Amino acid sequence: MDLELLESTLAGLGQPAFRAGQVWEWTARGATSYEQMTNLPVALRGELQERVPLSSLSVEREALASDGTEKALFATADGRPVETVLMRYRGSKGSASMPDPSRDGRRSLCLSSQSGCPLTCSFCATGKMKFGRNLTTSEILDQALHFRRKEAVDHAVFMGMGEPMLNIDSVLAACERLPDMGIHPSHTTISTVGWIPGIERMTSHYGPTIRLALSLHAPDDALRSEIMPVNDRYPLADVLDACRRWHEVRKRKVYIEYLMLSGVNDRYEQALALARLLAPRTAFKVNLIPYNPTDSPVEGSSREAIAAFRDALEERGVPATVRLTRGRDIDAACGQLAASR
Ligand code: SF4
Repeated sequence: MDLELLESTLAGLGQPAFRAGQVWEWTARGATSYEQMTNLPVALRGELQERVPLSSLSVEREALASDGTEKALFATADGRPVETVLMRYRGSKGSASMPDPSRDGRRSLCLSSQSGCPLTCSFCATGKMKFGRNLTTSEILDQALHFRRKEAVDHAVFMGMGEPMLNIDSVLAACERLPDMGIHPSHTTISTVGWIPGIERMTSHYGPTIRLALSLHAPDDALRSEIMPVNDRYPLADVLDACRRWHEVRKRKVYIEYLMLSGVNDRYEQALALARLLAPRTAFKVNLIPYNPTDSPVEGSSREAIAAFRDALEERGVPATVRLTRGRDIDAACGQLAASR
């Protein structure tokens, strides 16, 4: 719902300011029509129906994966593509070598912050798209509301299209409203490739702590710059210092996301180099992510290589888990969002 349009419409109709709050409460609880908003006057419901669409996004396509993961492709009012994923967890714990860290019944949204992305990480399908623009706060919330109308949701991660730190004001404004939908700040994560001004903003911003994830993916500057050009601007040591400052202020661990790329970043020495970077141990937790095929020539690491990498980290006191991939068969997994199908 375009919240600015809602407020200006209500003001134009001479309605008291609290009406916007009433509409938002219903919307955040999953209302699918103004008719359901029974504490609004009937005539006002009719006016709003005419003037303020329930969503600022239109649904172009939806897909359901065999593991219950659902993906929606939206278009903004000016025709920009936006993709969002709902991951449904059924409590599978996985195998001993590939444990599933998810909790029973979790419903986790992967939200986009931009249409396309101006950064060009080599492994990422979104980075190969033409960059459109930053999404508004309402467009971010409307991704979540689309799924909230279907069922309860309780986790959100900004790991969809775009680099959230390049649109941090709108992202933080959206985070302020997610609790109304049932998503607590401690269950909300903003993931960055290392855009330091955004990390600093998350450190200093007033309000509850939202979790921070750093997509690190390479344990040295040379390799990182090769696969993530943003590293030329913000080198690894500076990014990790910014993460340590966030940890000191916010008293939470930084999640380190590490995509496992066969023959690129999955060697034993690279696990040791990564372990050396992540001091103090109490500040970081590593998620190893199996790579999902895009049209990139790079392949994902084998299960054995991932397990050995994790063991090398844990032997050095770095907590590490292997994330089960979700929605791979509908191109909804990490690095696959490109408005393609
Ligand atoms: S990984 Fe993130 S920052 Fe890099 S190109 Fe993809 S969406 Fe952009």
